[in-house]
Amino acid sequence: MNDALRKRIQHRLAGERGTIFKDAPFRVTVAYPNTYAVAMASLGFQTVYRLFNAEPDFAAERAFLEDAELAPPGRLVTYESGRYAGDAHVFGISVAFELDLVNVVRLLRAAGLEPLREERDARDPVVLVGGPLTSSNPWPLAPFADAILIGDGEQTVPLLAEAYRQAASKAEFLDLIEGMPGVFLPDRDAREPHWATAPLDELPVYSQIVAEESEFPGVFLVEAERGCPRPCTFCLARTMYGPTRNVPAERVLEVVPEGVAKVGLVGAALSDYPHIKRVGRALLERGVKLSVSSIRADRVDAELAAILKEGGLRTFTIASDGPSQRLRDLLKKQITEDHLLRAAEIARDLGFKGYKLYQMIGLPTETDDDISEMIAFTRRVAEITPVALGISPFVPKRHTPHWGDRFAGIKTIEARLKRIQKELRKLRPRVEVRSTSAKWAWIEAVIARGGPEVGLAALRLEEGESFAGWKRALAEVGWRDPLTLPEPEGAALPLVLG
Ligand code: SF4
Repeated sequence: MNDALRKRIQHRLAGERGTIFKDAPFRVTVAYPNTYAVAMASLGFQTVYRLFNAEPDFAAERAFLEDAELAPPGRLVTYESGRYAGDAHVFGISVAFELDLVNVVRLLRAAGLEPLREERDARDPVVLVGGPLTSSNPWPLAPFADAILIGDGEQTVPLLAEAYRQAASKAEFLDLIEGMPGVFLPDRDAREPHWATAPLDELPVYSQIVAEESEFPGVFLVEAERGCPRPCTFCLARTMYGPTRNVPAERVLEVVPEGVAKVGLVGAALSDYPHIKRVGRALLERGVKLSVSSIRADRVDAELAAILKEGGLRTFTIASDGPSQRLRDLLKKQITEDHLLRAAEIARDLGFKGYKLYQMIGLPTETDDDISEMIAFTRRVAEITPVALGISPFVPKRHTPHWGDRFAGIKTIEARLKRIQKELRKLRPRVEVRSTSAKWAWIEAVIARGGPEVGLAALRLEEGESFAGWKRALAEVGWRDPLTLPEPEGAALPLVLG
């Protein structure tokens, strides 16, 4: 192993609590197509690691995307034992984000595996791909995976382990898992299966490893609720995560080990979680610091804010999503200017350092008037509290009513961003504007609704891929805007939410 990589791994392992070192007949590599820090902040990734290790005859070890010079093709190693990542019976990848598609290819190459399924043979590990992206759109992953796992993994992993025990070969394993809930075999199935849904008694999921070099350093994560009952039309939470499951407060508190300094409560709409105050107060009594993934402006009150403040939260993070009331109503966001202003007042009154406000632009039917309203509204918020405005281009997703909407266009989004920056610049430092790239949002939109050909385009990209490289690769594989094409054969129809 490369010396620099060895030192990096040793350093990171020294900063972990809960790492599993295990030897067993069946070796599993649980790999993440992004950095160690991002992976260790993923509860899904951590859960798959725990579930495979819970099987007596399986030993799961982790691997991450490393710098190419530290882990050239075939040299990627696992953290627990330092074995080659590709030297496994099962090679599992957890993919959360569209833009990690290229990293899936890099990860497979780094592990010494041919990225394309059809170029691997019976001696190679079974390549399983799961994670949030598979629920949203598994098709670009189809060329790479032997099996794609869609939905919650809590029940799927034990069934996969049992099938692997019984199977005499990779082909027999695939025969055994064919038709299981949430299992999609891209070379056999014409349609995506129903998503696997974990029952409430299998929850909560929580950190197996608390890592100092995680994006949430030293934080023990626990998912207090899964799913969301709200009707926001742009969001996958309602469809992707299945029915809302609120974990009883006692169970959330039970899984938090003694000695943990900070707990991160996770949930799609955590401020709707009915036990949030009770859990928060109980953790504070144990001397534990708190963080939360997000709070809804219509659910914040002074009591909840005070709990979060005492738990160490410094900044209020609120999603407005629509730049104007008309667009928030169109998105069924159920948030008004009054909610947003009230939350800003609470943040100010309790002495929070700042107020982060997320907005999307490039929404269907959006005009310059909607942007004007957002600029004027941001000025009003800034009179109450300093505000960090986070702006992302809207990316239409499958399984939402926006399935058929067009991406607004790079030029349109860039022009609107420029205007927002210009008009709010005068209010610095009271208002800071941060935005994500319109070009990369376009790529994300392509992947979010693309088919297997988009995966083949990713395969053509080399290290350090650029926007121009993506466009070239898409042209080479004959990609066309999906709105001019039928869905990949057998793909689920978009759901129309009420
Ligand atoms: S945006 Fe938030 S509240 Fe709305 S459906 Fe998604 S998770 Fe729920």
